[in-house]
Amino acid sequence: MHKSVLGRTGLCVSELCLGALPMGPLQLGLAPADGARVTARALELGVNFVDTAQGYRTYAHLAPAIRGREVIVATKSAAADYPGMRGAVEEARRQLDREVIDIFHLHAAREGEEVFHKRAGALDCLLEARASGKVRAVGIATHSVAVVRAVAGRADLDVVFPIINTRGLGILHGTRDEMADAIAVAARAGKGVYAMKALGGGNLVSELENSLAYVRQLPGVTAVAVGMVSVDEAEELAAVFAGRPRPARLTGALQGKRLLVAGFCIGCGRCVDECPAGALSLQDGKCRVDPDRCILCAYCAPYCPEFAIRVV
Ligand code: SF4
Ligand code: SF4
Repeated sequence: MHKSVLGRTGLCVSELCLGALPMGPLQLGLAPADGARVTARALELGVNFVDTAQGYRTYAHLAPAIRGREVIVATKSAAADYPGMRGAVEEARRQLDREVIDIFHLHAAREGEEVFHKRAGALDCLLEARASGKVRAVGIATHSVAVVRAVAGRADLDVVFPIINTRGLGILHGTRDEMADAIAVAARAGKGVYAMKALGGGNLVSELENSLAYVRQLPGVTAVAVGMVSVDEAEELAAVFAGRPRPARLTGALQGKRLLVAGFCIGCGRCVDECPAGALSLQDGKCRVDPDRCILCAYCAPYCPEFAIRVV
């Protein structure tokens, strides 16, 4: 597995990063021990980089597999203010059983440039955590072209974690090519860039090799986070990234997945506002999903007061 240094962080990461979202309760809901098995297999195969989030609730899935190993851990929090982010940093250190978190992002999927103003306290907390040695690098996870452009000009941020894929699924405030340009500019400015949603949250699994190849060749992209929910998936993805023949078709749970809204939806519209991909709308008093736009990120589900949304 190819490894290289992420921007100016000094962190040497594998090109394939294990994305923890799909193994957690927002998607497949693996038991922590099963998630740990998948993680351990990925590490055996040469992956040394894992990406998670406070909101994914997967720290228990990762901790047993990464304990005592040289693994670069990235996490993020949607905390709005300083106290919230302080709690998120301590939670990550405690639950991941790590003194130092390698990369801590503002989790800001659908926010625009105003995020730096709106969540200034949360960002200050991360910068202090870096200064005190609790965090090595500070970044932002974003779907917004405008945010990636802004990161290039900010001295305080080390890393950016943008969405990009062949079809431009989920990209906000610009096109796919504009995101690719923004990524290249950020990387030239010394920012570490690793990419999310190269497979469009599962929508592009049928075009797996082309979809991954597109993101891997983008100037400035050092690594690609891909969700893994089974040992088979870990083995197949590791083979693709190592340039070996794929051992089998992708057997993972993302294949054929879709978002379901139960009939008892009350049409409150809260989920519509939270979707970063513009995939939800209200029609005849019920939530409707556009499957061509949905990237299966599951960010909408926790906002539903009726628990009507599920990725199945
Ligand atoms: S509908 Fe839900 S799962 Fe699909 S892209 Fe929007 S927030 Fe993500
Ligand atoms: S948040 Fe839940 S209840 Fe409200 S519109 Fe969305 S699916 Fe329906």
